[in-house]
Amino acid sequence: MLIGIDDTDSPAGMCTTYLGAVLVRKLRGAGIGVAETRLVRLNPNAPHKTRGNAAVCIRAEGDPETAFSIAGALVDELADLSCENTNPGLVIAEEAPPPDFYWQAVQDFCTVGEAREILDEVGALSRGWKNCRGLIGATAAISSELPDRTYELLAYRSADRFGTPRKVERDSIFAAEAATWPHTWDSVDSENRVVVCVPHTPDPVLFGIRGESPAWVEAAAGHIVAEEEALAQVWVTNQGTDAHLVSGTIGTLLDGRSYCVEATVAERATTGEGRHVEIKVRDGDERLRCMAYEPTKGFRDVVRALVPDDQVVVCGSYKNGSLNLEKVRLIDAAADVRYRPPICQTCGKRMTSAGREKGYKCRRCGAREAEPECVVSPRSISTGWYEVPPTARRHLSKPLVRGEPGLRRNEFN
Ligand code: ATP
Repeated sequence: MLIGIDDTDSPAGMCTTYLGAVLVRKLRGAGIGVAETRLVRLNPNAPHKTRGNAAVCIRAEGDPETAFSIAGALVDELADLSCENTNPGLVIAEEAPPPDFYWQAVQDFCTVGEAREILDEVGALSRGWKNCRGLIGATAAISSELPDRTYELLAYRSADRFGTPRKVERDSIFAAEAATWPHTWDSVDSENRVVVCVPHTPDPVLFGIRGESPAWVEAAAGHIVAEEEALAQVWVTNQGTDAHLVSGTIGTLLDGRSYCVEATVAERATTGEGRHVEIKVRDGDERLRCMAYEPTKGFRDVVRALVPDDQVVVCGSYKNGSLNLEKVRLIDAAADVRYRPPICQTCGKRMTSAGREKGYKCRRCGAREAEPECVVSPRSISTGWYEVPPTARRHLSKPLVRGEPGLRRNEFN
């Protein structure tokens, strides 16, 4: 059977993966074998997410009714039901529904009604709390397919420490990364010297190690010196797979979806308030504003290095009329050409514009010149993919260390 759970946490605490890890132990205690623990990240733009829009699916062998009552009691006990935005969902099905609902939940939006239809079709047991929104994530989790997959070892704190500062030795995390990268990734951000794998929120997670196999994430965790963990669980996940990206065309992008778009740079980047960087790209007459926000740090220099007529692929979520960049590919680099008024042949001073389409004029001697001076600079960027640093990476974004982005479903264009 497949047990799906979602929406048990709140900004004040809890985490659906922790509830899942506790459930695994309770199921085993009741003689129910657990074959797989799966963590799926859904649409990162879902409006009601608490943090990373996670849902879990546990594949187990045993009596579904027994599992249903154990899991239901655990949600009653651990979910933060006092929070208005916590609306848990629990589903158990003996076979997986078709994966379409999962892809819709990762790449688009779903309703509770749509989830209920799927659950009815497969004769699933289900229970929703309050407005039942968690049934969406729970149903997506049991419908999930992972054509590409990664692993995360999540270590959880003992309950008496929840909400207190975490004790994890910083150097040991850098040592874990040094010993296991590129088989694990994003434990630290080496360039910005920041620890990424230890959360700052009051939830039960002590740290999370992401990598290509259970053996590698366990090897990395073995280097970490920290307060005693209460339990640890290795999850198979869709994290770091770009499952959220579909190919898109400028002019047809829909708000709240995430895309890879081929385009031509229309204008050089500008840096605005808050040090956020904006660049405009085009496809024919259609234009698209792309943003590299301040937390993307050095990635903004990549965006600033692009010049008009560069051929690019831009990837990210489309929200409020902007594509929020996760990565960029420079396919074909244009010449970096800038134009400025020419030098006067007679007096050697720089001329000024004589007006729109009227050429240039020397203020001193009145000489005129039709053409501007053309300055071609060497490019500071070469063709290839560029990504935001680990501190700014979304759970679903595929780090370049795993290879180039690969689109799987293009059904929303
Ligand atoms: P948790 O640890 O509890 O999973 P979270 O940050 O992952 O926290 P949730 O608290 O689960 O976020 O909130 C996300 C809510 O949005 C859930 O109720 C989930 O069912 C719902 N949801 C997820 N994906 C979609 C989607 N594509 N369309 C509509 N609702 C969605």
